[in-house]
Amino acid sequence: MTTAVREVSVFGDGIAYFNEAANLLELDSTMRAILTHPTRQIIFSIPFQRDNGEFEVYTGYRVQYSFARGPAKGGIRFHPGVTLDEVTALAFWMTWKCAVVDLPFGGGKGGVTCDPSKLSQNELERITRRYAAELVEVVGPDKDVPAPDVNTNPQTMAWFMDTYSMHMRQTIPGVVTGKPLAIGGSKGRVEATGRGVMICGMDELANMGIAPKDARIVIQGFGNVGMWAARLFAERGCKVVGISDVTGAYYNESGIDVDKACELVEKDRNLGAFRGGDKISNAELLVADCDVLVPAALEKVLTAENASKVKAKLIVEGANGPTTPDADRIFNERGITVIPDIMANAGGVTVSYFEWVQDRMGYFWKLSEVNERLEDTLITNFHELRGIANRHKIPYRTAAYMTAIDRVVQALRLRGVYA
Ligand code: GLU
Repeated sequence: MTTAVREVSVFGDGIAYFNEAANLLELDSTMRAILTHPTRQIIFSIPFQRDNGEFEVYTGYRVQYSFARGPAKGGIRFHPGVTLDEVTALAFWMTWKCAVVDLPFGGGKGGVTCDPSKLSQNELERITRRYAAELVEVVGPDKDVPAPDVNTNPQTMAWFMDTYSMHMRQTIPGVVTGKPLAIGGSKGRVEATGRGVMICGMDELANMGIAPKDARIVIQGFGNVGMWAARLFAERGCKVVGISDVTGAYYNESGIDVDKACELVEKDRNLGAFRGGDKISNAELLVADCDVLVPAALEKVLTAENASKVKAKLIVEGANGPTTPDADRIFNERGITVIPDIMANAGGVTVSYFEWVQDRMGYFWKLSEVNERLEDTLITNFHELRGIANRHKIPYRTAAYMTAIDRVVQALRLRGVYA
């Protein structure tokens, strides 16, 4: 009942991107075989009690894709569409994301197939605790460090950390990141993914010679990533002309009042009552008039069907896997610049890394320190990608995969295969 079915593989998209870069790197077959197989996939049942006393059984997943560069790292997603294939793809992408920004982590991801909009806080707490309890042996600051993802948040991380700590008989904040500040969270973590999207986007706009005031931005998805990206782009003088969520899309040529939209979402949890723009469909938003398109929701929204109609000059992937390989080819042919997910949304895991470091030191940084280090990490690595892309005349995505694969392969070769 809780097992979602998908017709097309998300992991398949990831492998297609990987193969393209692996071919250019002339990667040998052993490395290819190792890197296209997840190290560990865990599937388990989550029986839990509804508030009305009835029991239901959900399915939980954790995929630890790679440990080559350090502990696995990646979020936990609560969504009706969660499948083993999706979680594997997301864990695969975390491996490359952590390597692109040179963090000492492997890649992981987890999820529960459920619809959080139909669950109470108490029910979500019971699901989270049972999920954490099932993973006690295989997670930990030196093993695998989960974090928030779609429909999970600092409170979810607090429950996870508490459950793990109760089992270990000591408080271990470094088992998860994205925690509330009161229990070892880092300043700046909540907005970090959106901030990273903005940092990469602004840097590329400057590279393209587009002034912030001339940049019209469309943001698809108004969760944590989309909301913060919208706020921060607006703060830098860009004009956000379109936003969307499950209730539909809203377009306003003279600019969306981002603060108003954020206030509404904080109150209602959705944009349904938003009146600050013309209501259009989610499909129309992706092809609406704009300079920058930020897909910030789920996978596979930019496809062969709509890619030729996209009007943006620049796509900044706030979501993981929003562009299918077919769409990506069309964007490349049309000269549309794409900053790939594994670079554009790496701000979140970068500040997760800072949080993990702070937890281990027991010493916490000022917000300005976190933000400076974040900007430095992203810009340094993004400029490295730009150099490779320009030198080899390849898209950023290929340059990002090449860089990431090269870093992971170096670690694998040094460690060798234990057989
Ligand atoms: N879920 C986020 C991502 O996809 C953050 C992962 C993390 O901080 O570990 O990058």
